[in-house]
Amino acid sequence: MKPDLFEAPDYYNLDELLSDEHKLVRQAARDWVKRDVSPIIEEYAQKAEFPEQIIKGLAEIGAFGPYIPEEYGGAGLDQISYGLIMQEIERGDSGVRSTASVQSSLVMYPIYKYGNEEQRKKYLPKLASGEWMGCFGLTEPDHGSNPAGMTTSFKDKGDHYLLNGAKMWISNAPFAQVAVVWAKNEEGRIHGLIVERGMEGFSTPETHNKWSLRASATGELIFDNVKVPKENLLPNKSGLGAPLGCLDSARYGIAWGAIGAAMDCYDTALRYSKERMQFGKPIGQFQLQQKKLAEMITEITKAQLLAWRVGVMRNAGTATSAQISMAKRNNVDMAINIAREARQILGGMGITGEYSIMRHSMNLESVITYEGTHDIHLLITGLDITGLNAFQ
Ligand SMILES: Cc1cc2nc3c(=O)[nH]c(=O)nc-3n(C[C@H](O)[C@H](O)[C@H](O)COP(=O)(O)OP(=O)(O)OC[C@H]3O[C@@H](n4cnc5c(N)ncnc54)[C@H](O)[C@@H]3O)c2cc1C
Repeated sequence: MKPDLFEAPDYYNLDELLSDEHKLVRQAARDWVKRDVSPIIEEYAQKAEFPEQIIKGLAEIGAFGPYIPEEYGGAGLDQISYGLIMQEIERGDSGVRSTASVQSSLVMYPIYKYGNEEQRKKYLPKLASGEWMGCFGLTEPDHGSNPAGMTTSFKDKGDHYLLNGAKMWISNAPFAQVAVVWAKNEEGRIHGLIVERGMEGFSTPETHNKWSLRASATGELIFDNVKVPKENLLPNKSGLGAPLGCLDSARYGIAWGAIGAAMDCYDTALRYSKERMQFGKPIGQFQLQQKKLAEMITEITKAQLLAWRVGVMRNAGTATSAQISMAKRNNVDMAINIAREARQILGGMGITGEYSIMRHSMNLESVITYEGTHDIHLLITGLDITGLNAFQ
């Protein structure tokens, strides 16, 4: 793979909106990605393997629980810093960002928000340091966009719960020590349970043959009469709103992350367009190539403003789920389109692993599907503005 020469575009001087702390946090993540992710990621994506050696570095840049308070091992940062970390990581690879998103927003967040003090103290410091990795089990083979239909369930057996069912498409599942699992009780109410590797009847077979997010490990969660201790139930929130609250946090991070992937594709294509000569000129001198590049930087700039604004609203506690949906949907769509156009600017070289663009392009096919599909987010906006539910 070519050396990482990435330079971040900032067409509207948006850095003026950032504090010194934001810039420091971003720089640390950017330096780490250049040093520890870029040189190895293509090889791991090619062999479809998660690079476990990066876990320590992810913890060190604050990617595990960026906004979880320091007393629980988190970085105690604000939402903009969280977003910037996700942007920089996804600039390297969406699969690596997925690992960080799951650990932070889908495992640490529910334990922090819906767990009791004992659960927080037991799990959060180990998850923040990367000593334990976590996964989040919501999607099932027959219930993806409609998680309310889930059939995974647990029964109260007096001194423990008995959990049965299966989850599918679970990021980090093959190596996670801890799974936050969403299941229905006997009354049909959804609760979060913390399931640990080693519990009898719990297995996590890996999902193979992915053309997307190849450097991220994906698997199933199988529960065959798993005895879950009663103290592992998250006591402070139940119902579908509990997992959806986690998704808000992850979707917000994805809105930033997608900008990172888009910036990397744009920056690569811009550099290539100035170096590649055809018909005696750099291809960047042809109007058709300039149109692609000019549209890319316009879309990136709009996406940056969207993500920043949602971040400000999240800091103030006012961002709605629908506002977050809009940013996730727009920014991932923006990134996938830019990856496609950037690939064309590189001609044949664009399909090789010499450059990052094809990998980003394939990764974004998952990002546009998980955490609510492109269509589902559109329906969320539609419901929000009309008050009419088009889901069913
Ligand atoms: C690589 C990867 C990693 C993932 N990681 C996780 C994870 O860690 N944890 C987890 O719980 N899940 C995870 N997921 C699952 C992901 O969230 C689901 O794939 C996603 O929610 C879509 O569900 P589905 O695949 O079952 O598609 P479906 O729900 O079957 O949807 C298929 C198509 O139908 C459309 N559709 C569905 N309902 C409607 C409707 N009402 N109106 C209009 N169109 C509709 C959808 O938009 C989509 O285009 C992951 C997925 C992938 C690919």
